[in-house]
Amino acid sequence: MILFYHLIFRTLISAKINHMKTSACLFCFLSSAISISSFPQTIQVIKGVTLIDGTGKDPQQNVSLVIKDDVISAVLPSNATIPADATITDYSGKFVMPAMINGHGHLGLLKGDNASPSNYSYQNVLRHLEKYEQFGVCRVLCLGTDQQIIFSMRDSSQKGLLPGATIYTAGYGLTANNAPPTNLSHSILQPQTVESAIKDIDHLAMFKPDFIKIWVDDFGGTVKKMQPEIYTAIIKEAHKKGLRVAAHLYYLDDAKSLVNAGVDVIAHSIRDKDVDDELINAMKQKNVYYIPTLSIDDYNFIYADDPEWINDPFFKASLEPGVWERLTSDKFKQQLQNDTTLAKKKSAFETAMRNLKKLSDAGIVIVLGTDSGAQPVRTQGFSEHLELQLMVQAGLTPMQAIVAATNGAKMLHIDKKAGTLQKRMKADFIVLNGNPFDDIKQTRSIVSVWKDGKKVSDGISQ
Ligand SMILES: [Zn+2]
Repeated sequence: MILFYHLIFRTLISAKINHMKTSACLFCFLSSAISISSFPQTIQVIKGVTLIDGTGKDPQQNVSLVIKDDVISAVLPSNATIPADATITDYSGKFVMPAMINGHGHLGLLKGDNASPSNYSYQNVLRHLEKYEQFGVCRVLCLGTDQQIIFSMRDSSQKGLLPGATIYTAGYGLTANNAPPTNLSHSILQPQTVESAIKDIDHLAMFKPDFIKIWVDDFGGTVKKMQPEIYTAIIKEAHKKGLRVAAHLYYLDDAKSLVNAGVDVIAHSIRDKDVDDELINAMKQKNVYYIPTLSIDDYNFIYADDPEWINDPFFKASLEPGVWERLTSDKFKQQLQNDTTLAKKKSAFETAMRNLKKLSDAGIVIVLGTDSGAQPVRTQGFSEHLELQLMVQAGLTPMQAIVAATNGAKMLHIDKKAGTLQKRMKADFIVLNGNPFDDIKQTRSIVSVWKDGKKVSDGISQ
């Protein structure tokens, strides 16, 4: 079916139909042609698995997933009668979990051991999408460092016309004057007045971004933060246009002020202080999502010594060429060990861990996100599995961590069709050799990755 749409799309494009009416009529005709013709459905059965459906419900043992085209049509006991024309894949004894959704990632910037806007291209974005998918991350929200081509890529990707993880994008993020991450994209907006902030959002809204991204941080005291009147105007205008806002932040006070101003997503951990009831209550009242990105704070100091995963082929396969050599070099380790802010970075990480547990216990919806792809050390694919491990270290159960890896669907308002593995949902999942409830690191024992009901990866050769 997807192929058919693809053909129609290509026909429309190659015919260069510019006249809106002709195009609309042709599309109507083609749509009705699709609905009246009887395309044979592909039925597949994934047999004999323990299903972790991502809703938080107990795993279902020894079941079969019946998939019609790209959607789950039933979950049956393994010994149930299955459709005669189904293609059966016997995964007896294996575990199935939902493909992960990364609620905070970056695309197109990494190539070799650097992150730069000059690496940004159609091909490089595509390469990153395929890498995410290979590691079982089938949807990614890129928060604010994209360039113009992302919007057409996003449209194609969301229609199933591009390989790899599905793109969601905030397009061009908004930051304070000359504040990071202007080094990562020439398109980042820097409104300095309320009027220009409103103008920027109105302009951005024309591209229908999936989110608006703002940075509210002094980056360790190196720059002046975006002022409250600017982000208040951004949030208000975004909401007027039906868009929601995710904020990069660091400080508890900014979190409170942003939640007050109506921010929809906190896209990093609060790392200066422990969260208090005032913030928790405000977040609950306004249904604010929380993305802890614990892995970035871990990466800030962990390579001063060799972490346990340093020689893990799963980790090494996710790195861009040259990064592993740098991370393991004496020069780099020395640099980190001599870093005068190392103690502060470690303490920020510990604070982030405590805050995640507290917010999760309070019932705030936690969304997995990693900020992978923004720096070579924040490697795409591995970071998402490390994030699960760190969530469990912070005190979440493996089930809560896996649910967080599907909560991006709620945040993106696509949870009626994707995220969890229930009837009528997209068949996007990971088949695992080991049980992640015994050890969350078993999410790395990938046998295969499936997206839209098709096997797209045989995992990472170890
Ligand atoms: Zn980011």
